[in-house]
This record gives sequence, structure tokens and C-alpha cells, in this order.
Amino acid sequence: MAKKTIGIPRAMFYYVYFPAWKTFFERLGFRVVTSPKTTKEILDAGVREALAEACVPVKIYFGHVLALKDRVDYLFVPRIISINGETIYCPKFLGMADMVKSALPNMPTVLDVTVNKKRSRFSLFWASMELGRRLGKGSWATFRAIWAGWKVHRKYDRILKAGYTPDEAMDYVLHGKPLPVKQDEEGGETLRLALLGYPYTTHDSFISVEAIQKLKSLGVKVITAEMVSPRLLKRQAGKLVKGIFWTFSDITSKAAFHFFENAGEVDGIMHLTAFGCGPDFMVDKLMEIEAKKRGGKVPFMTLMIDEHTGEAGMLTRIEAFCEMVRRRKEAAV
Ligand code: SF4
Repeated sequence: MAKKTIGIPRAMFYYVYFPAWKTFFERLGFRVVTSPKTTKEILDAGVREALAEACVPVKIYFGHVLALKDRVDYLFVPRIISINGETIYCPKFLGMADMVKSALPNMPTVLDVTVNKKRSRFSLFWASMELGRRLGKGSWATFRAIWAGWKVHRKYDRILKAGYTPDEAMDYVLHGKPLPVKQDEEGGETLRLALLGYPYTTHDSFISVEAIQKLKSLGVKVITAEMVSPRLLKRQAGKLVKGIFWTFSDITSKAAFHFFENAGEVDGIMHLTAFGCGPDFMVDKLMEIEAKKRGGKVPFMTLMIDEHTGEAGMLTRIEAFCEMVRRRKEAAV
């Protein structure tokens, strides 16, 4: 008998939890299906169906759901409120399952368990157990699948922290492919830049207009927020007048503050922000103020992306910033 399928959209949390989720569902005996990489067709479909005021990543998420929904038995859209018991995810994440269910017709069964570690330390565990139960699996089988998923997640996270992209890390942990040689090991880098933003924007090559690949082709070693260790991020806690309570915004701003404070670690910071993102209106301003407060020692630039962002414009801005940073660096020697 053919295995039942579970669809996981290649957007939003995909870049953080996909290896764990895939392992969990496969251990429970399901086949996991993902949507293809973002394309113009996926974006356009999302733009047509999502609320006009939604941010670009939410529109893209809708496009990925549309690309999957008729091919799977279940669609996994968890309602993750808090995973660390301290900060919460942006409200768009919280409402995603309800948004797709109410906006899109003929949906398969949506698996929308809630995870909120602010309510209970074991919320993730109980949500996973509930998933197993909804899928008709026993407690012991579910427990073993949770454990397998957790082990894969730890490995994946370690690879990300070591400086690899989600695609590279997934190829390694899920498909056993070797990790590529890092740029700094090849000796080709001339600049080190932090490209900060949410993982679903920086690592979605369509919506980021291949910012990472472009920077690499210019001889830049790219450091993203996921590569900064939690220990270093923690040191930045309390340096803001008020803590930021959205999880990804908290990580991004702490990573920026870390690089502003340790000016020698990078030659410049680029903040990749999506049009229509509420939290980023504040986070971007905070970064800009901090850059000025520190006398512009670390050059800072905001790259705003929206559904119309063109490749040529993006490349021009990236090249201009790299050129400016490179000249400053040479002048300082
Ligand atoms: S943090 Fe911003 S970009 Fe991300 S889902 Fe929320 S509003 Fe959209």
C-alpha cells in the first residue's frame, strides 16, 4: 500500500526545522513532500490569494501551500507560538494555519498543533505526541520518532552554526552529501559581511534575489544570523532599552548588535528586510541608530525586498556597498 503523504511548504519555518520534521514523519511511516524552490509562479499565486497587506514571506508561504495542497494527504502548518519560553514568533506565524484554512478552498487535512513553551516547558513534546495520535500512531512509536527528529535537528543546527547554509546542511544531514569547502578555507575571500535577516528571506534565493550567491561571487565571506552562537547572542540581552519579543527579530537584532560591538569580526552589515514586515520597521531603525551611535565604524545598509524586486537593482546596490566597504578597508591599512 502506498504511504500517505505529508506536505511541508518550503517557506518560513522550513529553513529551521525541516530536517527534524521530515525525520519525525518518516519514522512514523509517512512520505514527506515539499514544494519546489520559490519561483515567480509560486510568488504570483501567493500574491493572488493572500491578503494584500501581508508581508512578502507570508504571500510566498501561500504560494507554497498552493503548490502542495492537491498533491498530499496532510499539510503540516504548526502553530508555533514560543519555542524557547521567552520570546514569541511574529503574529503572522501564529495565525498561519487559520489563514490558509480560511483563505484556500479544498485543503487537505491541516495538521496544526500548537507549541507554546511559555505555557509549558514540555509543550513541544506534547504537541508531537498529539501529532502522532492524530495520525493514528501509538505513543511508543511517536516517542521514538520524536527522539530521531531531535537528534537530526541537533546535528543540523551544529552544521548551520559552523557556517553552512540550510541547503548545504540539509544535503549533509538528510542525504549524506559531503559538506562543500568553505570560502575562507579556499582562501578566496576579500571581505566579510554579515547578511542579517530572517532565514526565510536570506535563504530563499528567489526572494533574496540570490543575495548570498551574489556576495560570494564578489569574493565576500557571508555570515548570517544563524551562524552566530546563542552564547554570543545572549551577551547582547539587556543592551536594548526594552527586549524584543518576536523570536526571529530578537535573534537578528542581537546578531547585529554583536557585530556592531565587535567591529573587527565583519567589514559591514547588510539588513535584508521584507516589505510589509511590521517587526522590521522597528528592528531596522534600531540597527540604523546603533550604527550611527558607534560612529559608523561598521558600515550598515538596508536592503528592502518586495514582490517586484529586480535582479539588476539588487546587484547594483550590493556591488556599490561592497565597493564602498572595500575602499574603506584599504584606506584603513
Ligand atoms: S517577522 Fe515580518 S517578515 Fe516575518 S512573518 Fe512576521 S511580518 Fe512577515
